[in-house]
Amino acid sequence: MNLAYTPEQKAFRAEARAWMEAHVPRDPLPSFDASREGFEAHRRWERTLNEGRWGMVTWPRDYGGRGLDLIQWLIFEEEYYRAGAPLRVNQNGIFLLGPTLMEYGTPEQKARFLSAMASGDEIWAQAWSEPQAGSDLAAVRSTARRDGDEYVLSGHKIWSSRAVFADWAFGLFRSDPQSQRHKGLSLIFFKLDTAGVRVQPIPQIDGETGFAEIFLEDVRVPAFNRLGAEGEGWSICMATAGFERGLMLRSPARFQMAAKRLIELYQAHQDEVEYSTRDAVMQSVMDADAYALSIYATASRLMAGGQIGAEASVNKIFWSELDIALHRTALSILGARAELLRAAPAAGDVGRWLDGYFFSLAGPIYAGSNEIQRNIIAERMLGLPRA
Ligand SMILES: Cc1cc2nc3c(=O)[nH]c(=O)nc-3n(C[C@H](O)[C@H](O)[C@H](O)COP(=O)(O)OP(=O)(O)OC[C@H]3O[C@@H](n4cnc5c(N)ncnc54)[C@H](O)[C@@H]3O)c2cc1C
Repeated sequence: MNLAYTPEQKAFRAEARAWMEAHVPRDPLPSFDASREGFEAHRRWERTLNEGRWGMVTWPRDYGGRGLDLIQWLIFEEEYYRAGAPLRVNQNGIFLLGPTLMEYGTPEQKARFLSAMASGDEIWAQAWSEPQAGSDLAAVRSTARRDGDEYVLSGHKIWSSRAVFADWAFGLFRSDPQSQRHKGLSLIFFKLDTAGVRVQPIPQIDGETGFAEIFLEDVRVPAFNRLGAEGEGWSICMATAGFERGLMLRSPARFQMAAKRLIELYQAHQDEVEYSTRDAVMQSVMDADAYALSIYATASRLMAGGQIGAEASVNKIFWSELDIALHRTALSILGARAELLRAAPAAGDVGRWLDGYFFSLAGPIYAGSNEIQRNIIAERMLGLPRA
């Protein structure tokens, strides 16, 4: 891995920085989980990004990207977080389904879905989990019955992020009723406003409706909406999960920027807190940098033709634990102030830390719980026997 940036990479960073400075909204956008208005404000931001061809810089030019490599993507993310740009409402589509579609989609499917996804015209939710199939995803019971040129979907999905306001969902369904476990599953898309789909919001710990249950009752979709071969949904989903846990879901810039804010918070309050807090701050800063270096190394290896395997699980555990530690340290610096309501006159940046802390608690659960990631590491990296 080369630790020095090339002149081209530096020029790319300067271009990204200048664009962000000119376009990032001055005032934070309202949350995309709390209201339709906030969701639509984020959709407009996705459109703006896409118009500047910054929506997904690694995507091919034909789909609105720049055809750039993973190191350039990391540089872009650093500039994105540096500028304090909005969270990506489009994440499920562009980071998860997008790469999977490019690998497994037919030319017609790519033409139909990718540009609309990149522009934010169609925002996607991921409908995999079910009440009895979260960690044990192969226990999926929702069905897709083939009927001529259509599938008829029935079942019950849960914990589907963004589904309350999103346009489409990609779901995992049992297309062979006799099948068990990983076999006989298909990955199928459905519009969330199709007849027979009912979306039931679930409030999060902060009261916002970040995710939803989805009830499907004889929902008819064209067979065109199946990604990959019938019955091959499991291996396609595992490819998506690799993208999710591996590089794209949480770029290091997110944690490096949070660590920078943590230093500023500590400096503003260092006279009021225990001296040992300094060690916790330093640990978070070092961990964020270590994560960044490790992701740069992974990106370099992928660009040289390597694969990402079980190390995606190592990354996922590392960033989720780092996020919690970092936010706990911030709350310990804030002390009783951490409980101030966002609207309180003295609240300042406090609400952001509290929101960040609440969200960090979900890190060890979503994208496959950390216990499951540890099982994967034990079995596939360390060669230990199955528990
Ligand atoms: C913020 C957030 C967003 C999410 N977004 C989505 C989304 O958009 N789409 C979607 O489909 N899902 C989503 N999920 C769901 C998420 O993928 C599941 O919550 C997760 O996979 C765990 O499944 P579960 O909740 O059914 O818990 P369970 O599987 O019931 O697990 C409960 C506990 O038991 C542990 N456990 C279970 N099996 C084992 C085992 N074999 N060995 C050791 N420990 C085990 C788990 O690690 C966990 O600690 C989201 C979850 C959260 C928190």
